[in-house]
Amino acid sequence: MGFRDRRVVLKSAAQIEKMAVAGRVVADALAAVGEAIAPGVTTAELDAVAHEAIRRAGATPSFIGVPGHVSDYRHATCIAVDEEVVHGVPGKRRIGEGQIVSVDTGAIVDGWHGDGARTWIVGEVPPRTRLLVEATRDAMLAGIAAAVPGAYLGDISAAIEDVALAHGFGVVRAFVGHGIGNEMHEEPQVTNYRTGSKGRRIEVGLCLAIEPMFTLGGHEVRIRPDGWTVETVDGAFAVQWEHSIAITADGPRILTVSERTPAVERALPDRRPPASQGLP
Ligand code: MG
Repeated sequence: MGFRDRRVVLKSAAQIEKMAVAGRVVADALAAVGEAIAPGVTTAELDAVAHEAIRRAGATPSFIGVPGHVSDYRHATCIAVDEEVVHGVPGKRRIGEGQIVSVDTGAIVDGWHGDGARTWIVGEVPPRTRLLVEATRDAMLAGIAAAVPGAYLGDISAAIEDVALAHGFGVVRAFVGHGIGNEMHEEPQVTNYRTGSKGRRIEVGLCLAIEPMFTLGGHEVRIRPDGWTVETVDGAFAVQWEHSIAITADGPRILTVSERTPAVERALPDRRPPASQGLP
């Protein structure tokens, strides 16, 4: 059964406000991680910072207890360094100069989920690595800008993929964006590449996690023996960014934001007109 056959749950305006509360907790937790990231800090210490921020806000970390092939997940964050893509397990590893660190976290407030991720550059990195980090963020924002009522999920995918194509970056295909609400992962799936079909129509009340994962190399990934950590097969550096959003009558609204979210991470680009416009 394809995911199109399953149910997509649209949210009311009041429910979206509740999701924004959870989203704010995620944004503040990531901001706290950002203040703690420095050479020498361990990924377990960064996880503790996020966990504490979520608990202090009266929220529940949603990643803890997620079932896996080897073991249930036990951490508030996933932290992916360098060639790790997503689902990196926090531990004793120390962050060093020249690394890129993607942190993904989720929180539940009153049964509603927020899910977000961002990537930090620690110290100096080559220009193309910096471009990878910034372009993946910009692809996320371009995908969000395309999520307007009446458009199609495929428009989000195309907007994201176009940023990767423009720079020659790999687009991870094995992991995709998703619906979000009372569950962290709901229908529909949102690919970060064109699938050949335009997909479901985007309606007011649809809530999505938009999460592009780009690489400096190919798209192929594999899971390490820990059962969680996803790394690129070719060892190329990879980056993930993620916002949870709600589609409103006024357009897409980013839910995983707070006053502590830098403007560059929440400013939507002007939406490009459809390719058919302006042609003779
Ligand atoms: Mg997600």
